[in-house]
Amino acid sequence: MTSSKDGHFAKGQLSPFGDIKMSPSAGVLNYGQGLFEGTKAYRKENGNILLFRPDQNAIRMKIGAERMCMPSPSIDQFIDAVKQTALANKRWVPPPGKGTLYMRPLLMGTGPILGVAPAPEYTFLIYASPVGNYFKEGFAPLNLLVEDDYARASRGGAGGVKAISNYAPVFNAMKRAKGRGYSDALYLDSANKKNLEEASSCNIFVIKGNLISTPATNGTILPGITRRSIIEIARDSGYKVEERDIPVDELVGADEVFCTGTAVVVAPVGSITYKDKRIEFKVGAQSVSRQLYSTLVGIQMGHIEDTKGWTIEIN
Ligand code: PMP
Repeated sequence: MTSSKDGHFAKGQLSPFGDIKMSPSAGVLNYGQGLFEGTKAYRKENGNILLFRPDQNAIRMKIGAERMCMPSPSIDQFIDAVKQTALANKRWVPPPGKGTLYMRPLLMGTGPILGVAPAPEYTFLIYASPVGNYFKEGFAPLNLLVEDDYARASRGGAGGVKAISNYAPVFNAMKRAKGRGYSDALYLDSANKKNLEEASSCNIFVIKGNLISTPATNGTILPGITRRSIIEIARDSGYKVEERDIPVDELVGADEVFCTGTAVVVAPVGSITYKDKRIEFKVGAQSVSRQLYSTLVGIQMGHIEDTKGWTIEIN
């Protein structure tokens, strides 16, 4: 769907996957005026489809749109578009446990603009693709490399929203970490290079005893929907959860570390390497992160009763 000049988005339509056309002077191509989201549709045992908290993606996109000076579809328009996309692609939602249908909402300035300024027109669309489980051969732990040259975001920047322009600047750090055999880079705060922030596309949690800590959302890390859901599940399970600054030094002596995100769900971290020192953490079937993973996936797949109203069942 495309916005009119007053920023109102008219009712959208379904169309087969294909190329889109825009002016070479589109705002998104020239000035990076774009946002994306990621959400999944899950197949229930009864054949119906479950969506997980699409309202949270809608709200995050709305906040991001304000930050990037763009109009956004209403929360209802966004949720309806996710539902329509999932239903139209129902046959592509894999059977339970075999994967999910990943949906990628995009909001971008498609109107032409030559001078540095917001685009005159915007497009909102969602495309979809079936995806397999992140861990194809069991629950393999991530090994992260602390990055101290490149920052993912800085205070006052756009790290707190899902701007398309946040991602290419960390490709070098990701490439370097992967080239050295690590799963991903782990970023520190840009001001002091002292506190943990997040990995390239997931949030991080540190467990010590009954305390589960995760970096506070102070505008530099993305407020993950999985992150927020895990905070609630952990508190319900009796853990103390703190959102705070976590100095990288605190990793020494931590019991467990895990990452959260729509793609990785809850992924155990086996090791973090900082200044050539490798710190290892507990992983395995008895770990807290595995319990949290099971509860979250149980709700997403409809095996565990959703007492929180997080899922929407459609058919
Ligand atoms: N941080 C970053 C930088 C991300 O790109 C993502 C993925 N959206 C996350 C964290 C996790 O967010 P969510 O749980 O909403 O997928």
